[in-house]
Amino acid sequence: MSVRRSDASRCLRLRAVRIARWRFSRESRSRRVSFPPRVGPGQKGWPMRKRASSPPRAEQQRKRNKMSSGGGGGGSSGGGDSSDLASLLECPVCFDYVLPPILQCQSGHLVCSNCRPKLNCCPTCRAPLGNIRNLAMEQVANTLKFTCKYNASGCALSLACGDKAEHEEQCPFRPYSCPCPGASCKWQGPLEQVMPHLLAAHKSITNLTGEDIVFLATDINLPGAVDWVMMQTCYGHNFMLILEKQEKFEGHPQFFAVVQIVGSPKEAKNFAYKLELNGNKRKLTYEAAPRSIHEGVAAAINHSDCLVFDPSIAKLFSDHGNLGINVTISQI
Ligand SMILES: [Zn+2]
Ligand SMILES: [Zn+2]
Ligand SMILES: [Zn+2]
Ligand SMILES: [Zn+2]
Repeated sequence: MSVRRSDASRCLRLRAVRIARWRFSRESRSRRVSFPPRVGPGQKGWPMRKRASSPPRAEQQRKRNKMSSGGGGGGSSGGGDSSDLASLLECPVCFDYVLPPILQCQSGHLVCSNCRPKLNCCPTCRAPLGNIRNLAMEQVANTLKFTCKYNASGCALSLACGDKAEHEEQCPFRPYSCPCPGASCKWQGPLEQVMPHLLAAHKSITNLTGEDIVFLATDINLPGAVDWVMMQTCYGHNFMLILEKQEKFEGHPQFFAVVQIVGSPKEAKNFAYKLELNGNKRKLTYEAAPRSIHEGVAAAINHSDCLVFDPSIAKLFSDHGNLGINVTISQI
């Protein structure tokens, strides 16, 4: 802890020249919500794969929201018959719609494709789920319009089943999730509340002002999954810089660096960012458009649609285990 404090005071001094240093340990994935970052090379057993389980929970929450709007269904110009039919396609578990491919149990009960993998038997009759496809219901589904699942939050659109998922991903009424990586925080809310949430619940995240800053990640040699996070404020917007170290392929750790804007996908289009590793007579530059926190960075990291480098590259640019990344945000 005393080591940490001296780091912190050094940080304050460095901040004068717009350089920040801080770190998050691998442990921070599960604890970052209300704890200051903590590094413990000796600590083991952090729940690295937790992230996989969190998006479904968020989904669930959204579905509950949708469900509470419930009954009226319609709202579409399709008339009462269509929404009555659509209600026949409601999943008995999450109350979202069962959309093609539609599978039924041996008695003909339906369950949506999200809930299905989580069930051992039919939620209605307890019979085995089986793999019986219901083509007639699929054809019915293909002729109907379904209300957006954010109907309760204000979205009035009704969509063909093929367009529904894509729309909901982009729907302006979809609540924003906490943008901190690792998904340990379950907060959701409107865009205007994201920054107040970060400031209140994630006090350990450093916030720097300026379009051109240096992000100094310390202790990059720590084993296991680690992430470093920082906020950058410029052009009247807030950006979140994330550096993650993880093993997408076992035994092969990689670093992923990406910038997301605390804003909508539309706002994200107005900016570009540049990440630059610089030092020891070498330079590595990466430029891209920031992600919106509405999209999140998980997909970018999964698809390596960000700055990716391995530990040997990190070593070339680092100094005593500390890696400086120049971050420049520009307006398009
Ligand atoms: Zn369901
Ligand atoms: Zn059944
Ligand atoms: Zn919508
Ligand atoms: Zn949060």
